[in-house]
Amino acid sequence: MRKLELHWKILIGMVLGIVFGFVMTQVDWGKGFVSDWIQPFGTIFVKLLKLIAIPLIIASLVKGISDLKDISKFRNIGLRTIGIYILTTVVAISIGLLLVNALQPGNGISEETVTKLTETYATDSGVTSKIAEATRQKDSGPLQFLEDMVPDNALKAMSDNGLMLQVIFFTIFLGISMLLIGEERAKPLKDFFDALNDVVLKMVDLIMLSAPYAVFALLAGVVVSSSDPDLLFALLKYAGVVVGGLFLMIVFYSVVVSVYTKKNPFWFLKEMSPAQLLAFSTSSSAATLPVTMERVEEHIGVDKEVSSFVLPVGATINMDGTSLYQGVAAVFISQALGFDLTFADQLTIVLTALLASIGSAAVPGAGMVMLVIVLESIGFPPDKLAIGLALIFAVDRPLDMCRTIVNVTGDAMVSMVVAKSVGKLGKPNIKEWDDHLDEVK
Ligand code: ASP
Repeated sequence: MRKLELHWKILIGMVLGIVFGFVMTQVDWGKGFVSDWIQPFGTIFVKLLKLIAIPLIIASLVKGISDLKDISKFRNIGLRTIGIYILTTVVAISIGLLLVNALQPGNGISEETVTKLTETYATDSGVTSKIAEATRQKDSGPLQFLEDMVPDNALKAMSDNGLMLQVIFFTIFLGISMLLIGEERAKPLKDFFDALNDVVLKMVDLIMLSAPYAVFALLAGVVVSSSDPDLLFALLKYAGVVVGGLFLMIVFYSVVVSVYTKKNPFWFLKEMSPAQLLAFSTSSSAATLPVTMERVEEHIGVDKEVSSFVLPVGATINMDGTSLYQGVAAVFISQALGFDLTFADQLTIVLTALLASIGSAAVPGAGMVMLVIVLESIGFPPDKLAIGLALIFAVDRPLDMCRTIVNVTGDAMVSMVVAKSVGKLGKPNIKEWDDHLDEVK
């Protein structure tokens, strides 16, 4: 097993987890066994990744900024990043809308299926809680997101993984102020953060040693808690459109990587594959972030000055997979319930899905909360929202897993493009977990 590359080990873990989960659904005690004795190992793994996310963001962003020789470079990186993020998101939504309008998956859905799905899920707490959460988020003012970005207590922000943008704000502020006190005065702090950064990256390597076993546990858990296969089957065409669109996004990223950065896209995808497989297994770009950062910096060769900003910001605001899904789902629901959409409605979808993907949290199921807001923006009747969500709820988890792969790959691609544009795309510099093991043995 030692010689096998990491992504193969993870893939084997995933396949075995799916098979094991499936076998367990065939025996009476299987579901309870998996949730009591197997799933906790997956949960522990996700917790370990989340545990190091905030220290990693702080250490690597401080290092990134304090390595800058002038601040104007940072403004360049910032503006380019936001600009490219918006562009890729618009491409994603457009691909989704084109496919769903051309293939019309909602028109083939029978009255009977709609009733069955509605009866099964419209009152499910998974659906109602998403609508309630969306209403809470919608009630805020237009500049709320700016207000939310500024913490009033740095330590409080650092104690909550959901407040990643606040942590980024504080860290950029800290890093810029360090530059302004001059290199010599800032040196002790810089050395501290440099060392912390290396240590946290080493923690990523150590956590990743357990990844193949953890994905086994995570996927076995997903399989035993998945919906009735008949319902999944009824939504196959809709799911196919989403997955097809997501696949086209990966093709789009590959083309950009090849044309703009002149690197082999298959190499890019292969080097990113451990992060992609984790994105699939955890359905969370936030939990995957430490691995995404490690892969992009050590295996792709993006300089920390770029990746330390582009990736954490991307994990929170750039979700191409999620916005593509929101476009497809909104139109699919409208088609299935016979709600006509005008061209202006479709443009509204582009705009709200763009804003919604910026506002979505990088956690499982967040895309569905924002879908409520997208549906409301096109005048979807509020009393039918629960029915609409019920239609797609059965396949939401598998689609969430797939769209999270695209969310993570999109961030990595943009970090490469921004790095290339400012001359910061270098050579890979791979560090293994046991590089210094002999010295401490
Ligand atoms: N699970 C996605 C992510 O973390 C968000 C979503 O689409 O629900 O990237």
